[in-house]
Amino acid sequence: MANIVLKNIYKVYDGGVRAVSDFNLDIGDKEFVVFVGPSGCGKSTTLRMIAGLEEITAGSLFMDGVLVNDIEPKDRNIAMVFQNYALYPHMTVYQNMSFGLRIHKMPADEIDRRVKMAAEILGIEDLLSRKPKALSGGQRQRVALGRAIVREPAVFLLDEPLSNLDAKLRVQMRAEITKLHHRLATTFIYVTHDQTEAMTMGTRIVVMKDGFIQQADTPTVLYEEPINAFVATFLGSPQMNMINTVLAPNGNSMSVDVGGATILFPEIKRKQLIGGDDVFGEVIFGIRPENITISQTDGVPATIELVEHLGRETIVYCRIADREENVIASVPSNHGLKRGMDVFLQFDMLKAHLFNRTTEQTIMGVPAFNNYPCKLENGTVDLGIAKWQLPKEFVARTFDFTEKRACKISIQTSKISTQPVENGVSVEGIVDFVSKGSDTSAVYLKMDGAQMVFRTAEGNYEPGQKVTLYIPQDGLMLWDEEGNKLVSQHVVSNNSAPCTVKTVGDTMKVKVGPTTLTLPAREGIQDGEHTITLASDKLKVVYDYKFAKKNGIERNSASKNVVTALAYDEDELGALNAVFVQLKGWDSYVTAVVPNNFSVYQMPKFALEITPESVIIK
Ligand code: ADP
Repeated sequence: MANIVLKNIYKVYDGGVRAVSDFNLDIGDKEFVVFVGPSGCGKSTTLRMIAGLEEITAGSLFMDGVLVNDIEPKDRNIAMVFQNYALYPHMTVYQNMSFGLRIHKMPADEIDRRVKMAAEILGIEDLLSRKPKALSGGQRQRVALGRAIVREPAVFLLDEPLSNLDAKLRVQMRAEITKLHHRLATTFIYVTHDQTEAMTMGTRIVVMKDGFIQQADTPTVLYEEPINAFVATFLGSPQMNMINTVLAPNGNSMSVDVGGATILFPEIKRKQLIGGDDVFGEVIFGIRPENITISQTDGVPATIELVEHLGRETIVYCRIADREENVIASVPSNHGLKRGMDVFLQFDMLKAHLFNRTTEQTIMGVPAFNNYPCKLENGTVDLGIAKWQLPKEFVARTFDFTEKRACKISIQTSKISTQPVENGVSVEGIVDFVSKGSDTSAVYLKMDGAQMVFRTAEGNYEPGQKVTLYIPQDGLMLWDEEGNKLVSQHVVSNNSAPCTVKTVGDTMKVKVGPTTLTLPAREGIQDGEHTITLASDKLKVVYDYKFAKKNGIERNSASKNVVTALAYDEDELGALNAVFVQLKGWDSYVTAVVPNNFSVYQMPKFALEITPESVIIK
């Protein structure tokens, strides 16, 4: 049994390289998860953090519910297989496979049982007495796998294990590893930069770029419904054609102009626009090569520039008007197609994609998040047409519920469930329409004027049907108007402490434990015992001279009300950073929200200015 949860994981290497940012993933028992992405995107770093070979800068890693951030690699019940299999040249295959177990002083008969079983699974029983130099590349890789199998780990971590093999062997070993996963029935996490390996092996694929997860889903969903242009072009070969054009309403539907022709979408596609009519204008139109057919009579006029006959399929490179790059079509084997021919291209518009030209995010299909503008008030989000009461635990992690403020609530589509969840939110809606994919259907609901989309693998949903949906807390997020998160991973402290007030002339001395603050006197506050509360967003970080110089920021200590802050943790909120600190006089930690160019990871002990505006006395 092995369930692995990565929560808000960050890795910043010494020297400042941000290799992994806000990585969140729940890996189920017996899953085969593949991390894929271009070189340097943070795949290996993530894997190595799971293995315990790399320290986690921030965030939590759980295995079977236990926090393992600080647990030694050897105590994590994992086995790792690397790309250079690093076999001991002077040892036989048997000795190589049993080496780790012998070090752990396992009884000889148990070692023998395990080595023989692993050898049988891998079909290398005949090689046990050979030395590595007498093995082929594929056989060596099997021995490396065998060395992992004999440990009987709960999780296999594989880092590009096939990249040293030639193309033919790679295809063969790919299938072997998939079979091995079925046979061992344990969790596999596999790192590769090869999209074909990812598509063929993973039960779930995590596509990464620049240290961020772009999309995590089954191969089919990633292929049919990529969330952005990066994922769309990363998976699939030849890759999706990406054509800059303009999207315009057209009757009840909409159309794009490609190569001098106006191409109409089916009406249902217009209903699937994310953001509705706001998205009309400049877009990227995406169409996969296999969703283009070649006609002799009508469609987009094109001239064939190159034909590749690959046996079962023919790849056709076409020139169309107003475009430098070829449009590539993949059609069933067709030897009638020749270079220089004038033809017409027809696009299967039910399979077409649209992306925002600036953000490159998809603007048609199932959104990653259902977003709603709303107002926050006392733990309730007011959508204008409906009010949702948020779970208490969620409210406890949220900043500033005291004022009614404009914000945005986002609901992670993949977390929406038709089954009740504990401590979540439930909403009701009426099915508007259903869009079917290969594995799953997208169900579009109408809810008091708003729309919500969720994906489901089961159930038959009919238009008009009433549906109740449940959203767990980790599927909810609140944002302010500038795009900063309003919810932390930690409980946001109320920043209150008992204090005594003494007013002399126009100054007020406020004593909080050993700390004394000097503030302008306030009307209506009597001398004596009160409660002081600090507004988290009005506290100011005071940099010392060295820190200010190093980070190119202005030195800014002037006030008397400066107290030492000792970091407990921090949480990045976007342009802002929530820091959780100990202050003398406050029993529980204090939360301050500061610009994100300040990090407690760089400076765990610093100073906070308690500005007069931050102080509330009651
Ligand atoms: P991938 O496995 O996707 O190729 P890595 O996880 O190896 O990516 O690297 C992610 C980023 O972290 C890269 O920019 C890389 O240069 C950097 N990096 C990796 N290891 C170290 C290290 N030990 N020290 C500093 N930077 C590192």
